[in-house]
Amino acid sequence: MDSNTSVNRNTFDNVMLPVYAPATFVPVKGKGSRVWDQQGNEYIDFSSGIAVTALGHCHPALVKALNTQGEMIWHTSNLFTNEPALRLAQKLIDSTFADRVFFANSGAEANEAAFKLARRYAITRHSPYKTKIIAFNNAFHGRTLFTVSVGGQAKYSDGFGPKPADIIHIPFNDLDAVKAVIDDHTCAVVLEPVQGEGGITPVDAEFLRGVRELCDRYKALLVFDEVQSGMGRTGSLFTYMQYGIVPDILTSAKALGGGFPISAMLTTDEVAQVMEPGVHGTTYGGNPLACAVAEAAFDVINTPEVLSGVQSRYEYIVTRLEEINQRYHVFTDVRGLGLLIGAELQPNYQGMAREFLAASVENGLMLLNAGPNVIRFAPSLVIPEDDLQQGMARFEKAVKQMVEVK
Ligand SMILES: *Cc1c(COP(=O)(O)O)cnc(C)c1O
Repeated sequence: MDSNTSVNRNTFDNVMLPVYAPATFVPVKGKGSRVWDQQGNEYIDFSSGIAVTALGHCHPALVKALNTQGEMIWHTSNLFTNEPALRLAQKLIDSTFADRVFFANSGAEANEAAFKLARRYAITRHSPYKTKIIAFNNAFHGRTLFTVSVGGQAKYSDGFGPKPADIIHIPFNDLDAVKAVIDDHTCAVVLEPVQGEGGITPVDAEFLRGVRELCDRYKALLVFDEVQSGMGRTGSLFTYMQYGIVPDILTSAKALGGGFPISAMLTTDEVAQVMEPGVHGTTYGGNPLACAVAEAAFDVINTPEVLSGVQSRYEYIVTRLEEINQRYHVFTDVRGLGLLIGAELQPNYQGMAREFLAASVENGLMLLNAGPNVIRFAPSLVIPEDDLQQGMARFEKAVKQMVEVK
């Protein structure tokens, strides 16, 4: 393998801000659902860079878009618009509830824009006191100070000083809890249709319908964070489409660029009207290079061939997980939607999800956790059957190893 071996995993501990604990190997090359490290070891990738590389690594259509746009123009700033951004925005609008798009660079930034927009809409249209945001325990919306504050995990938001105010957290999928706190001062209810980082918890259909009705009654906006659940991950372009409940604002990131950083906030004409030039922005957001790659990813993902392949892959993984569990009794629950699947560890293995990940790496498999007790499966939407089978076989070996050590 041709790579620069003057740096390695140990370098990380000397040069990087210590906010991550990366795996022991350094990936240098990827193709489809296979990845190779500095030593040439091969891995099957069920992590997709946290549900980002939805079409696998170096998909030919994305590489082509990157190269073609790379020779055209990379960046112009928001002082000028550009063709790839306009085309991508039009495609997002044509395929969703939305009339308007704002591009940014990360999920957190799309959510930051969404929360600012919801506040501004309520203040402009209704009252300066309509600022309360209702969010959910275990939710994850990103790492800016506003988004960690709306997120429902204190470990991410504590220790950084005063937080944005008027944000309330309640249990997920509990309609009575929403009824108890929603009022005329509420500007938005924010949720992930499948809680991702919080442990792979799909939203309940009845709950979602009830929340939509409450938002309408109290003139609050419904915001769906589809940063992880969107762009085909659960088998429809966005997960809201399966529930038939339409939000006022939706955010997308992760798979939107297939691995190139880009995010989007989608909304209606009515809500968009409260914005005007100068009130929000970003230097890179919607730059031609990112939008060209995202457009290519969108064109491949938003096809019946790709979206209809998600359910059969889901069934294969869940069936194999149940078989593995019959043999080794490691899970109390297997849940999820499409190719966002969580296996919750039983009490004997509490807090050990990262150890299962390390055992998987030893067996040539890249996996994710979702919190300390849930192992998360998020392979490419187009992962070949062979890679899926071999990946699950490698996972079974890792589980066997964990059970034997115990
Ligand atoms: C990953 C994630 C984010 C944050 O995205 P970044 O690109 O890391 O800022 C926000 N919301 C959800 C649901 C996510 O999964």
